[in-house]
This record gives sequence, C-alpha cells and structure tokens, in this order.
Amino acid sequence: MVMRVLVIEDEQKMADLIKRGLEEEGMKIQIAGDGESGLSSARSGDFDLILLDLGLPGRNGLEIARELRSTGNKTPILILTAQDSTEMKVKGLDTGADDYLTKPFAFAELLARLRALHRRNSSEDAKQLQIGDLTLNLINRRASRAGVEVQLTGKEFELLKCLMSHPDETLTRDILSEKVWDGNFDQLTNVIDVYINYLRNKIDRNFEPKLIETVRGRRGDGETNRLRGYKFVTPQEESRLLVESKAS
Ligand code: CA
Repeated sequence: MVMRVLVIEDEQKMADLIKRGLEEEGMKIQIAGDGESGLSSARSGDFDLILLDLGLPGRNGLEIARELRSTGNKTPILILTAQDSTEMKVKGLDTGADDYLTKPFAFAELLARLRALHRRNSSEDAKQLQIGDLTLNLINRRASRAGVEVQLTGKEFELLKCLMSHPDETLTRDILSEKVWDGNFDQLTNVIDVYINYLRNKIDRNFEPKLIETVRGRRGDGETNRLRGYKFVTPQEESRLLVESKAS
C-alpha cells in the first residue's frame, strides 16, 4: 500500500524538498501551505501520516494537532520545528503529536521516523477492531463487550470480523456466505441466520444498544419485509446517551 502523507509546511522550498524526497520513496504527498488548508485536508482522514510544521500562518501547528485529536482524528503526526527546545517538544507531544524532529534534519532520519510511525500505527490497527464498546481481538480471536469477555467459535469470529470490517453496510447473505463460508449461497441461507443468532446471543442479548441489525426489503421495492441481510451498526452518540440515562 502506498503511504499517503500530508505535509503542512509554509516554507515552499522545504515543502518541495520533502515532497520530492518522499515521492522518490514511493509515497504520495500533498502539501498544504498554511494552517487553515492544512487542518481541512487533515480532517478528510485521507492520510496515513501528517508532517506538521509548528510555525504556520493562519493556525499554528500546535493548534492543528490539538484540534485534530480533540475531534477524534488519530492520524499519526510528526512535528517539524526550527525551535530545538525541550519546552516546545513537550508542548507538541502534549497536544497528541506522535513524534518530533528538529530542523535542519537529515532526510534519512525523517524517512526512518515516518516509517517507524507508520509501522507502529498499522500494526496497532491490525491487532483489533473496535466499534462502540465492542472490541474484537484479531490475535487471540476473543471479543469483549463493555469489558465483558465473550468466547467465540471459529465461524462466529469470522462472521463478526466480516461484519465489523464493514460497519453500517448491509451485507447480504450472498456476500456473507462468500466471505465467511467461501461457499454456496443456496445451502447456506439458514446456516448464516443461525450463526447470526449465536452471535447476537453473545454480543447483543445482554447489552444496549443492539449492534447487529436485520435488514429487510422496504415497501415499494417489491420485496416488502424479505430478509436482505445484516448490518453492523455503529452506535450513535444519542443512543448511547439514551442508554446511559436509562441506566441511571
Ligand atoms: Ca514555518
């Protein structure tokens, strides 16, 4: 996979230098020359890494890092700064940036830091899936909901992993049979429904909100109420609040 890097840097020469160097390493680079455009590009979430200069027109780098983290954006940030002071370093890392490099720097070092950050991030990504209060550990194949550990059989694990990898998407039984059972849809229709029930008993029955939704055909599309498939629903803020207020 091509690494996509957003470079937020107002010094044109520096930005071009970084862009050329990283492109030679096969990365895809976008440059933002000021704080505002940098922040809005970063918010798109289209990047694997952000290279962030601290002294910027518009919004400075610290503000951008803080803003991104406070809105839940977790793209790794490597701060670049001309100020080699412990205070700035601490400030930068306090905002949620991941690493720090002082100008001038050797290009090889920039490259090494970026790769290390990317590796760290993608291996964390691959270890577990988390949606709402449900976590699926991809290494030991266990799930836990609201801190309660749930044991899964092999097929239950595969099915849940498939659902969680496509949140808020309707997965037809056709798709599920292909992805989870590599198989013949006609014979599997019932099996899938049975496994969905097993999963619901484990991760939904004793919890709110319900995460696995049955999707049925709507009136007007000629297949009213016919079962179309299943969907893993990302809990909305309101429903979580509702549950919390019900509980209290
Ligand atoms: Ca600058």
